[in-house]
Amino acid sequence: MQEVRTRFAPSPTGYLHLGGLRTALYTYLIAKKHGGKFILRIEDTDQEREVPGAIEQIYKSLHQAGLIYDEGPDIGGPYGPYIQSERKDTYLPYALKLVESGDAYPCFCTKEELDARREKATSEGKGWKYDKHCLNIPKDEAKRRMESGESYCIRQNIPEEGMASFEDLLFGYVEAPCDTLDDGVLIKADGLPTYNFANVIDDHLMHISHVTRGTEYLSSAPKYNLLYKALGWEPPKYLHLPVVMKDATRKLSKRHGDPSFEDLLDMGYLKEAIINFIALLGWSPGDDREFFTLEELIQAFHIEGLNKSPAIFNMDKLTWFNSEYIRKMPFVDYLEMASPWFDKTLHSTDIDYEYLAKLMQGRTEVFNRIPEMIAFLKEMPEYDISLYNHKRMKSTPETALNALEFALPILEKISTWEEQAIHDNLIGSIKDAGLKNGLVLWPLRIALSGLESTPGGAVEIAYLLGKDESIRRVKNAIEKLKN
Ligand code: GLU
Repeated sequence: MQEVRTRFAPSPTGYLHLGGLRTALYTYLIAKKHGGKFILRIEDTDQEREVPGAIEQIYKSLHQAGLIYDEGPDIGGPYGPYIQSERKDTYLPYALKLVESGDAYPCFCTKEELDARREKATSEGKGWKYDKHCLNIPKDEAKRRMESGESYCIRQNIPEEGMASFEDLLFGYVEAPCDTLDDGVLIKADGLPTYNFANVIDDHLMHISHVTRGTEYLSSAPKYNLLYKALGWEPPKYLHLPVVMKDATRKLSKRHGDPSFEDLLDMGYLKEAIINFIALLGWSPGDDREFFTLEELIQAFHIEGLNKSPAIFNMDKLTWFNSEYIRKMPFVDYLEMASPWFDKTLHSTDIDYEYLAKLMQGRTEVFNRIPEMIAFLKEMPEYDISLYNHKRMKSTPETALNALEFALPILEKISTWEEQAIHDNLIGSIKDAGLKNGLVLWPLRIALSGLESTPGGAVEIAYLLGKDESIRRVKNAIEKLKN
């Protein structure tokens, strides 16, 4: 059997967006599932669209995602270079071969000439595609003009009739009438190939067995197959992947503010959660299993599980995955990742991070939400005394005042400020006084945090705040209730 070799072939036009990451992931999985090679190729023939630093960013993002390529521009490999701009001289000989066989031809039309003919066609209500004007130039005249230094491009000579087709692993047999296909440019006037040509040449020279890319290339793939045929090459297997949508009508796009992979990492999404979530955007394992490591995805992935319709990126679902991954991560890892986020709010305090992390791990959905959740520890927020109302606890602002006046001396008497001591003293005294826990602990938590919902209850918060601060806050709360 032919070795499975897949490639991820991004253009360096910016950060790795999530649709791109998904393509990279599926491409990686197909290779690894079959014990094959995953290759990175940078497609930078359209240098006007290139964004400085984007290539390094692609290397970095793929590494962060764990999609380790076997061959690529920065690590080399047997079929390099893996950056198209460094392969400049590779393409022209193949184009000239096609010119020789009549499957391509040089075109000398200037931009002005093309514009004029396009305008005329459109004003007559006809669609425009290149009119094969230069195909009629006798071969030796064309050759002479090419050699004389006149500017020209090389166009594909699409047959005027018949069908062009290819087989897609997801979409099946796809065909297009040749007379609807444009004689697209293969080599531009600057000598560089277009994507339409370079992808065919490179996929062949790099022995790519499976071409995976977005469905935006579905309609051009019949043309690529004509090129393979003309060059006498076996075409690869094709797999076109449906786009990732933001909602029913809009594509996910970085330009419109949707997060890139990097953005999500910066926000505090775990790469494992992102990968797991992305894998399920358009692929289903066939049962209701939801959690997969990258290793498990390699085992479970199969092309039959892919969905033809566009996938919708649901941020809430990603957040849910993330919170599940955070909950399951080893505590030491959580503490390490959470600490810089604790620092943002608590850097100059002596809050016990390890203790706080224990309270926070099960409540963290995304790391960047931590600072807001713990801001009350640094500074008591404004709050309304209506928060003291709690039906089930039978708490009202009136009972709260009594409860806090009851709790204050108990807290003041505690000599070693530890969770257990705070707990035992409070609960013991509440019991001795014949009160209900909630009647005291609810208002105490409000008094200490100003919040209805906090990581941990009154005892835990009191411990975190320390004795002086806890007492200060309870005293202030009593004052507030008295006024
Ligand atoms: N360079 C193309 C892009 O970034 C990739 C198409 C392909 O994988 O063949 O859209």
